[in-house]
Amino acid sequence: MARIGFIGLGNMGSPMVLNLLKAGHVVRAFDLNPAALEASIAGGAVQAPSIADAVADAEFVVTMLPAGEHVRAVWTGADGIIEALRGRNQGPLLMDCSTIDVTSARAVTKAAEDAGLDALDAPVSGGVGGAVAGTLTFMVGGTPEAFARGRPVLADMGKSIVHTGAAGAGQAVKICNNMILAISMTGVAEGFALGVKLGVDPQKIYDVVSVSTGRCWALNDYCPEPGIVLGAPSSKDYVAGFTAALMLKDLKLSQDAAASVDAPTGLGAAATKLFQRTVDAGESAKDFSVIRRWLSKQGRKDVVS
Ligand code: NAD
Repeated sequence: MARIGFIGLGNMGSPMVLNLLKAGHVVRAFDLNPAALEASIAGGAVQAPSIADAVADAEFVVTMLPAGEHVRAVWTGADGIIEALRGRNQGPLLMDCSTIDVTSARAVTKAAEDAGLDALDAPVSGGVGGAVAGTLTFMVGGTPEAFARGRPVLADMGKSIVHTGAAGAGQAVKICNNMILAISMTGVAEGFALGVKLGVDPQKIYDVVSVSTGRCWALNDYCPEPGIVLGAPSSKDYVAGFTAALMLKDLKLSQDAAASVDAPTGLGAAATKLFQRTVDAGESAKDFSVIRRWLSKQGRKDVVS
């Protein structure tokens, strides 16, 4: 049992806190939006009036925030975590589980270490379903010592906890995974767009490709063509799931990172453009597999230059 300060109780953070409480930890929770705290307080968390209060007595601090700017503000701002802990002996381990840019991840870790605090970047895969079930995958960047310290707490929220390297390596693996997923989902959506225009029954496309060399998670488990995989968002009017807006955010992170190290990600760049257009067409809140529906409204010249 540990004392944990948790900041950012949105769609992901809230169920993660419930799993920490179920494991017997004491959680002091802070969110700018008090309504976000309701489920956690009902589950036994203590409402903290400020970041400083949430972390004051903590052995571990977890942040689950939208983007790099929020993590920088919460970790390194004047009212942030590091200032609140400055000078404290035996400070808590700080773990950021948000999906953010590698540069911000490394910057906040350095700021923590400069203040004598251990830190990890520990983004997750598995979505809200995985957060509720406690089956998230954590990709963790940081020193081996910090990883060993944080692992038991992460294991109370997830099933697979992988140390991927030094600071920033968790975020690096996360954006590689999501770039690959966006490319494979786009490929599957294009396969159905082509096959259907050639007059083939989409069920037949699925029956063949799902047992052939084109099979992949985006097709077999999460098919973007409606009415084939009945549990998939496509069969429920593309209710998210993982929104097109969040996928676009992660694709942009992948392309910024690729530019920073001169990595050749042509398909990642193409997927970013297509997801940008899907979001611009009003589909941002739908599941990212909605790229199939957007493609069904395009002609060849609309997407191939
Ligand atoms: P969300 O928007 O539902 O929750 C974010 C929470 O942070 C909100 O409650 C907001 O009020 C709070 N917040 C923002 N700024 C704050 C501040 N300065 N101080 C305190 N609280 C603040 O987002 P989410 O869906 O929970 O996602 C969180 C992170 O996890 C994102 O980086 C996202 O990319 C990543 N992620 C999400 C999913 C998913 O399926 N939703 C899956 C994997 C990873």
